[in-house]
Amino acid sequence: MIDLHSHTTESDGTYSPRELVEAAVAEGLEALAVTDHDSFNGYELARPIAAEAGLNLICGIELSTKVRRGHRKTVHLLGYFLEGEPCGDLVDWLRELQSTRRDRNRRLADKLQSMGMAVTLEEVEALGRSMAGRPHFARILVSKGYVANYREAFDRYLDESASAYVDREEPTLEEAIGRLRASGGISSLAHPVRLNLSDREEEERLVATLAGQGLTAIEAHHSDHGPEDTARYLDLAGKYGLKVTGGSDFHGENKPGVRLGVGPGHLDIPMRVLEDLRG
Ligand code: AMP
Ligand code: FE
Ligand code: FE
Ligand code: ZN
Repeated sequence: MIDLHSHTTESDGTYSPRELVEAAVAEGLEALAVTDHDSFNGYELARPIAAEAGLNLICGIELSTKVRRGHRKTVHLLGYFLEGEPCGDLVDWLRELQSTRRDRNRRLADKLQSMGMAVTLEEVEALGRSMAGRPHFARILVSKGYVANYREAFDRYLDESASAYVDREEPTLEEAIGRLRASGGISSLAHPVRLNLSDREEEERLVATLAGQGLTAIEAHHSDHGPEDTARYLDLAGKYGLKVTGGSDFHGENKPGVRLGVGPGHLDIPMRVLEDLRG
């Protein structure tokens, strides 16, 4: 069993890179990809620990993108096999993305303040450092008693459809696919079920377009996917010549129902998926 989608404390997970490697070893995983949001820090920190533990660790990342520029909805794109030299350009680009995150966080703090909630950018950054984001805003809203829990923080204020939401400038899927490819990596459309395209034809059109733009793979196996979802994405992969990836999207205590490797219980992704991806 392998897991190609996981997060550490370097983005919005609650396991440190060391704890994540230890959990992967405890679960008996044959390979683990660290796919923190917009950052390689978690992977870099986990690498020597995994080497010592004899764990096959894959360099990954999860990028936030938009289908089209100016679109409100964020789509996640996974990148893999990005170790090595050409990565320099990618790291510079990630630094640019950081500044749009910081700008968004400032506007989000302003908006919450204008709604009467005392939340400052400084507090959020103390908690989340360079990857400070909405999960940290949520924790502060909970700790100050403005909401009862994390769920309510998103439902009332932070979700894309909620009252304090402010948009962030993000690259297009096409640009991100190209950047990953130019850095010697591959891309995979993350948890496609979250695109929320109830119209199956629209979903298929998007997959076809992305395949034409150089997308390598689609994340057919994911904690949020039911058996029909997985079957549909495997079909689409076959139809458009895409490879397949899969993972639990482990976030530690931030997603309590999801275990490394098995997700909510149904995942069992074989090593063959990784071999096909490399081949
Ligand atoms: P950010 O990159 O700062 O905009 O935060 C995005 C992260 O917030 C995602 O990776 C999720 O962990 C979390 N998130 C976004 N929307 C929701 C939601 N509706 N409910 C719970 N968590 C969410
Ligand atoms: Fe996340
Ligand atoms: Fe994601
Ligand atoms: Zn993820």
